[in-house]
Amino acid sequence: MEPNIDEVKALLASPKDVVIFSHRNPDGDAVGSSLGLFHYLQSQGHQVKVVLPSDYPDFLAFLPDVSDIIIYDDEEELARKAIDNAGIFFILDLNSFDRIDKVAAGLDKDSRPRIMIDHHLFPEPIADFMFSDPSSSSTCEMVYKFIADLGHAGWVTPEIAECLYTGIVTDTGGFKFSTSPALFRTVAKLLEAGADDYKIQDNIWNSMTEKQLRILGHCLVNMEILPEFRTGILWLSKEDYKHFDIQRGDTEGIVNYVLRMPGMMIAAFIHEQPTIVKMSLRSKGAMDVQQICKSHFRGGGHKNAAGGASFAPLGTTIKKFKNLLPEYAAEIDAAYHEFNNQ
Ligand code: 5GP
Ligand code: MN
Repeated sequence: MEPNIDEVKALLASPKDVVIFSHRNPDGDAVGSSLGLFHYLQSQGHQVKVVLPSDYPDFLAFLPDVSDIIIYDDEEELARKAIDNAGIFFILDLNSFDRIDKVAAGLDKDSRPRIMIDHHLFPEPIADFMFSDPSSSSTCEMVYKFIADLGHAGWVTPEIAECLYTGIVTDTGGFKFSTSPALFRTVAKLLEAGADDYKIQDNIWNSMTEKQLRILGHCLVNMEILPEFRTGILWLSKEDYKHFDIQRGDTEGIVNYVLRMPGMMIAAFIHEQPTIVKMSLRSKGAMDVQQICKSHFRGGGHKNAAGGASFAPLGTTIKKFKNLLPEYAAEIDAAYHEFNNQ
């Protein structure tokens, strides 16, 4: 059941010290929703800090006041001070404290009010007010609704609109999935409020470095296709990380290329970071990759976009993934036929 917005309104009726959290390796939706809410709450007279566990990708540097974000990994003392001072917490675009690890230390037993706004499946009870809507395209779409439900849709500034529009564009892959009539109505409102569609989309999509394009090329050359399972695997080894000097964010979006081939239902990107093998899965239609990540790779996410990790070496992890596919063959086939008969 949706929390009572009037109770939230009452909490925000007088100026508060607010800390907004979002997840590690923040994406456009995490940063956009945090900063959109930051600008809104500031406009209401609150003292607001955004604390993210790790740094945001360079392509988001255009967002208004992005440099005010406190990165816990880099500025632990400042982050701790902000957290200690806070009267209220917002938890955005995440459904479990695991995804902010040490940033959330002690919060589960903290009596200060917490408000979660999130669109991931199966949220854990991490807040007093849980705005959870897995059918929503993005947390940014939900933050707009939250502001509107507080009665302030008319007070959305160009800065708020730009931040929220950014997360909607990134989480829908440029309006390719998770869209709805309601989303486009929200998008229209954000454009009317002053979001510059052309500028934002140019910043998002035309932001690759030469290195990133070469990493993508390398992955595509080594791509493995398993036609019987309508699955493609892209991978990067520890050596590739060294050779290309791969930094966080350099591999963003690579996984999606597999699904550019008609008939493919699952895309896997398996990459060996220094201490862990990370895995990103994407799928189409009814094929649920969240379940695969949850059951076999200590992860989760959404039906069509999920992630997880493995502590086994890269080769072993790829093999484990391939060996799982026969188990899902019927589901893949059914999803493929359903998808193509729509
Ligand atoms: P990506 O593949 O872009 O890293 O993540 C896709 C989606 O999967 C994200 O929206 C995120 O919610 C989820 N996800 C990625 N990695 C993990 C993980 O390690 N654990 C959980 N629970 N979800 C993850
Ligand atoms: Mn999101």
